[in-house]
Parts: sequence; C-alpha cells; structure tokens
Amino acid sequence: MAQDSDNFRDSIGTINEEGKRAWVFPKKPSGKLYQYRKYVSYFLLAFLVASPFVKINGNQFLMFNVLERRFNIFGFPFWPQDFHLFVISMIIGVIFIALFTVAFGRIFCGWMCPQTIFLEMVFRRIEFWIDGDRGAQIKLDRQEWNAEKIKKRVLKWIIFFIISFLIANVFLAYLIGSDRLIQYVTDGPGQHVSTMISLLIFTAVFYFIFAWFREQVCIIACPYGRMQGVLLDNKSIVVAYDHKRGENENGRKKWRKNEDREALGNGDCIDCFQCVNVCPTGIDIRNGTQLECVNCTACIDECDTIMEKVNLPKGLIRYASEDEIVKKEKFKFTPRLKGYTAILVILTGVLIGMLFLRNDIEANILRLPGQLYEHKEGNIISNVYTYKLLNKTNKDIDDVHFELISHKGTIKLVRHEDFIVPAQNLAEGTLFIEINNSAIKSDKERIKIAVYSGDDLIETTTTAFLAPRSYK
Ligand code: SF4
Ligand code: SF4
Repeated sequence: MAQDSDNFRDSIGTINEEGKRAWVFPKKPSGKLYQYRKYVSYFLLAFLVASPFVKINGNQFLMFNVLERRFNIFGFPFWPQDFHLFVISMIIGVIFIALFTVAFGRIFCGWMCPQTIFLEMVFRRIEFWIDGDRGAQIKLDRQEWNAEKIKKRVLKWIIFFIISFLIANVFLAYLIGSDRLIQYVTDGPGQHVSTMISLLIFTAVFYFIFAWFREQVCIIACPYGRMQGVLLDNKSIVVAYDHKRGENENGRKKWRKNEDREALGNGDCIDCFQCVNVCPTGIDIRNGTQLECVNCTACIDECDTIMEKVNLPKGLIRYASEDEIVKKEKFKFTPRLKGYTAILVILTGVLIGMLFLRNDIEANILRLPGQLYEHKEGNIISNVYTYKLLNKTNKDIDDVHFELISHKGTIKLVRHEDFIVPAQNLAEGTLFIEINNSAIKSDKERIKIAVYSGDDLIETTTTAFLAPRSYK
C-alpha cells in the first residue's frame, strides 16, 4: 500500500532521527466512531473498576491472586488444584484474540485494551481539558516556564498521580482480593507498610506509563502488538487508507475550489494531514498498515469530516482489507479462520465439560509414607492414611465423614468422628482403614471411599490398600 517508498518502515513514529523520543501531540478526535468508542470505554471502565468488588455466590467476580495461585473468572473460583482449567481458559482467550485479529486486525487494541481506554479516554481527555488541543499543547510545550505553564503542568501531574493511585488500588484488588484491600484501607497504611509500598510502586508504574511512556507500550512493549505481522494477511479487516481512490493516477493533491479531480486524475486525498495530526501513535496511515497503528479509528473520523467539507464520498480511510481495496473483494470466511474457529469451539466445549464435572469439594486420601500394613486380631488388615479435603465453596461443609464403598470394612478417624470443612479452606487429618483379609484379592488393592456430609454424598475418591502377598 505504500505510496512513495518503504522508508517509514525503518523507523518508529515516536523516535526522531537522533534516536530521542518524538513527543506526539495528537489532535482531539471527534466524530461518529469516537463517540461510539466513548460509550464502549464508559462501559469497560465501569466493568474494570467494579469487577473486583462485585461478588457472585460470595466469590469475587474477577480475581487474579498469583501469589496464592487463586483465580476467580466470572465468579468461578479456580484453586491451585484447578490450574489445568485456568490454563485452558487462558489458551481459549489467546486463540479467541488471535481469531479476531486474523479477521478484524487490532480491533481489540483500539476498542477494548485497558491501555488504550485509560490513555485515550481518561488521561488524554484530561490533558485536552487542561492544556487545550494540539496547537495549544505544542505552544505550551515550547514556551518558557511561566506562571501559566507551571500551573497547568502541576495541576495535570497531580490529577495524573491521583488517577494512577486509584488504578493501583483497583489493580491490587484484582491481585489480593477486594475484601483484603478494604480491610487494609480500614486498618490504615501504618499497619500494612509493605502493601502501601507495593501500592506506591504500582502508582509510579502507572504514572510513568500514562504520563510519559504512553503509545510506546503498544509499539515497543506489548507482545500482542508485535504478533500483528504474523497474524494479519491481505484479507484481515484493518483501519486502511483506500490508496486506489486516494492516489488515483496522479497521486494526492491539495484541494482547489471547483476543480474536477476525477478529470484531472487526482486522487481523493487532499493531502491535508489531518489523519496524521489526529493519530495518537504519530503515523501516517497513508503509508499502509503499520506496526504502530492501534486501529483507534481517529483517522477515519477525521478524514470523513474532511471529505464532507470538500464534498467527496466518505470512507477514504475506513475498515477494509487490502483485497477489498485492490481487488474489490468482500470479506470471506477463509480456511485459516475456519481452523481457528474449530479449535475455539472444541476447547470451549472441553472447558465447559470440565467445569460441569468439577466438584465443589476435592478429596485426597493417601497412604502415610513409609508405613506398610498392620495385621490385627480377627484376620483384619489395617492401613494408615492422611486425608485432605478442600472446600471450594463459600459455605462450611459440616457433618463430614467417610465410608468404604468398594469393600466391606471400617474407616476410623483419629481423634474425632465427623468434622467440618470450613468454607474456602482445607481440612486434613489421619485415618485408619480396616478390611478383613478374606475380602482382599491383591497385595496392592484399589479401594473406593465415599465422602458424606450428613446423608449427602459429596465426593468419591480411590486409594491403594496394602496387604500381605499371601492374601492375593
Ligand atoms: S485526512 Fe484524508 S484527505 Fe486528509 S490527508 Fe488524510 S487521507 Fe488525505
Ligand atoms: S493510523 Fe489511524 S487508526 Fe491507526 S493509530 Fe493512527 S489514528 Fe489510530
């Protein structure tokens, strides 16, 4: 799609020739798509902020407690024992994003990524409010430090710091759980100094990202952005400049009143540079699909406004694939898309099946290491075990006891009869299993044990039972 040369691919839009940061002063976006993006961002911001504080069946809606390896996804708790389910969910998420990228380019980056939402819809809008639009920002940046500049800069930095601190709190609620965060806030920072230090480090990181590093996250740091070259093809729908129409035979030309551009062979692009000025990553979309483009659609809105003013059809920059622009081909469900969709459907089916088969209680009964068996009076063989019962629910499970269901025999708990497994917690202890030798067919017999809460069967598990060889 490149018009003149591919030189633009040798450099990044935000780094100048001396290798220094070229600060981007994008024009304030406006237009239909920007308005839609605002609505989407309001919803997503509310979702991001509320998710750690909303509970379903007592479980936090979203939680990623990596330290304790406990995750809640849509109110579904994942314990370390459910790690395989969590991994499958993550794989499905990655494939889902890949599928969407193949079909719709970086639509996720422009419309849904938290980095874009916070930068473009929170921090940048505050900047427009304090510093003004592009022209005023450039002027302010170049002018000497005076009362006005100090006032604007200090006000902006303070607001950015407060918002970064709030984001850090929400981030911590995802990491350690909102209940614990609220508890820490209620106790006061003096009682949780290490948490306060972590909070300030997170605040500093967010401040650095949104006040200074900005679009470079998408260009340099984000692995998803780097994958674009592999995922996109000529059929992917991206924010694209219709170079056929924009350049025509004689290329882009400045607009002159009452001219017949068609007859002159001029392209519809009037070379006004508004699409470049509005771009938050500082690129010229007319050079073609580029790594820096986050598909924010700001250039679509801007160019449409220009086209309206000069009485030319809108859509010179639009969502389109390279094949649509060059060959006028419409969107097709390609074999690659079909393959991704098939994998996605299979993995989702596996995950749903696993979630349904997953028990709220997990029982593990294992023979005590180093112990053999004991031959007791009355031809009874006894084995000693440790048990661990994990209650994944938010309610205590009481009146818990075991019954041997594969053999005739008895289970004796050490110290107590029935017990309680506390909510979201573990109960462990020791038990003896005794079986008459006549019922044992092997020296290492598989036995099945049922776990009851009162009269309700809540789980079954198997373990090994050792016996002398003569009992085979
Ligand atoms: S805004 Fe549209 S007309 Fe103006 S330079 Fe960009 S593509 Fe050309
Ligand atoms: S080229 Fe257009 S869509 Fe891409 S980042 Fe710039 S303004 Fe957004």
